[in-house]
Amino acid sequence: MVKAANFRGTTPGPPSGARILVVGGGYVGMYTALRLQRRLKQELAQGGVEIVVVTPDPYMTYQPFLPEAAAGSISPRHVVVPLRRMLDKCKIVIGEAKAVDHAKRKATVATLATLEEGTGPVEITYDELVLAPGSISRTLPIPGLADYAIGFKTVEEAIGLRNHVIEQMDIASSTRDPAIRDAALTFVFVGGGYAGVEALAELEDMARYAARYYHNIKPADLKFILVEASNRILPEVGETMGKYAIRELRSRNIDVRLETRLDSCEDRVAVLSDGTRCRTRTVVWTAGVKPAPLLAATDLPLNERGRIVCTAQLTVAGVDHAWAAGDAAAVPDVTAEPGKECAPNAQHAVRQTKVLAENITASLRGGPLKEYAHKYVGSVASLGLHKGVAHIYGRKLKGYPAWLMHRVYHLSRVPTFNRKARVLAEWTLSGLFKREIVSLGSLEHPRAEFELAAGGKRPGHGPDRAPHHGPQRGPEPGFPPGPKPGPKPGPKPDPEPRSDGDPQSGSRGN
Ligand SMILES: Cc1cc2nc3c(=O)[nH]c(=O)nc-3n(C[C@H](O)[C@H](O)[C@H](O)COP(=O)(O)OP(=O)(O)OC[C@H]3O[C@@H](n4cnc5c(N)ncnc54)[C@H](O)[C@@H]3O)c2cc1C
Repeated sequence: MVKAANFRGTTPGPPSGARILVVGGGYVGMYTALRLQRRLKQELAQGGVEIVVVTPDPYMTYQPFLPEAAAGSISPRHVVVPLRRMLDKCKIVIGEAKAVDHAKRKATVATLATLEEGTGPVEITYDELVLAPGSISRTLPIPGLADYAIGFKTVEEAIGLRNHVIEQMDIASSTRDPAIRDAALTFVFVGGGYAGVEALAELEDMARYAARYYHNIKPADLKFILVEASNRILPEVGETMGKYAIRELRSRNIDVRLETRLDSCEDRVAVLSDGTRCRTRTVVWTAGVKPAPLLAATDLPLNERGRIVCTAQLTVAGVDHAWAAGDAAAVPDVTAEPGKECAPNAQHAVRQTKVLAENITASLRGGPLKEYAHKYVGSVASLGLHKGVAHIYGRKLKGYPAWLMHRVYHLSRVPTFNRKARVLAEWTLSGLFKREIVSLGSLEHPRAEFELAAGGKRPGHGPDRAPHHGPQRGPEPGFPPGPKPGPKPGPKPDPEPRSDGDPQSGSRGN
């Protein structure tokens, strides 16, 4: 059921002129709205323009810092940027766009309030649309994957994974069952792009460091396996540096399997295409991304991979008043041979927002549009503390210099001076003190202690206080044991399913 025919009536503040609706509060959504609020300052002040940002989270996540957040080098709070503070001239709606009918200039949005009230989504009308819902993990129908694996795209996943890894060490340390110990100390990462490699390298570094504080776990007892279907890893840094990264990981006893696929991960056993079977309680899936499911619920043109077909001016091809950029958009790469698209990465996303905001402003004021042109300059990747690999502006770096470049580059890129100062302070302090190695997985169950005190029973828990995660939980073998991290508005079904069939039900689409 659609609650309101026009969101304008429910929005506080004076009625406005042109409404720019930005869907997504990530790189593209946040930077585009930020640039627009600067460029259209006068129009915003006079009520001639209104910018509405629809996003499931009140923050933008600086994804390149997720591996360091998982390793504990940066606090989760500093990996995210509060949208309300950044976009103080915009209206922020916390919710998920479920569909867009561009012909009628309206988006159907499930907000936190409509989910809470059970009243069904609202409709938000607009004059200009900016679609920036990004991408989600690209999964395959592998037995056990949906039940046992975790992705690595959100801050909740990164912190959930950190807690989980440390908990597995606690389990291994306290069990007498060799099979449980073996499974707890085996960590399988699928996908050799920067997300998978950086996540694995940072967590491995942290876990081997933590092992020194366990009386019965040696660093060599931990098994980290990287499974990659192609014959290389880190294609973003080029072949030579990719080979160096493999050597570096193998020298740390990380089992890098190239030209290998994950065939199944049911019942805590990972089965690889080379015949290997290993018990594991941890499967991290980072084997690529696909466009957000919302795109399939729009009337906009999509290419064969489901990205929105765009022009180099970042307009949606053949459609007026619709714009897109970032992971969700197929933008022609005018610096490469014809037919090539810009790759889904932050380097393009953040630069596209500049052109996007300029073009939207120009179109509102009747000016000419610019083309987006940026030649990919290469990439930097961290391989754990003081280790890295980089291929940027034709220069190849490895080891400490590459790691330093990685930090300097991302410090320069993370939004706001406030965040930069906080991250720098954290890095400085972590250089002076020992690493944090506690798991705060219990934060995911804040009521557990009270429920127990009040006489309630939790599934799988005996009358005594038991660790909330662990082998004694019995029938809950999924990852991470217990509820999946990240309470999001997405999963609740709409009280009245829409007749057009929502492809996103059960997904938050980020
Ligand atoms: C671990 C990791 C490390 C990375 N490291 C690098 C790196 O070093 N260098 C690099 O160039 N790139 C890197 N990337 C990729 C980069 O982060 C992405 O390319 C970039 O974030 C894309 O920006 P975007 O705005 O298109 O999508 P996102 O930043 O993902 O933003 C999409 C937003 O849309 C929201 N959304 C989704 N569905 C809906 C909906 N239905 N309604 C409303 N809102 C919705 C999401 O919640 C999210 O806020 C990394 C990615 C990951 C996961």
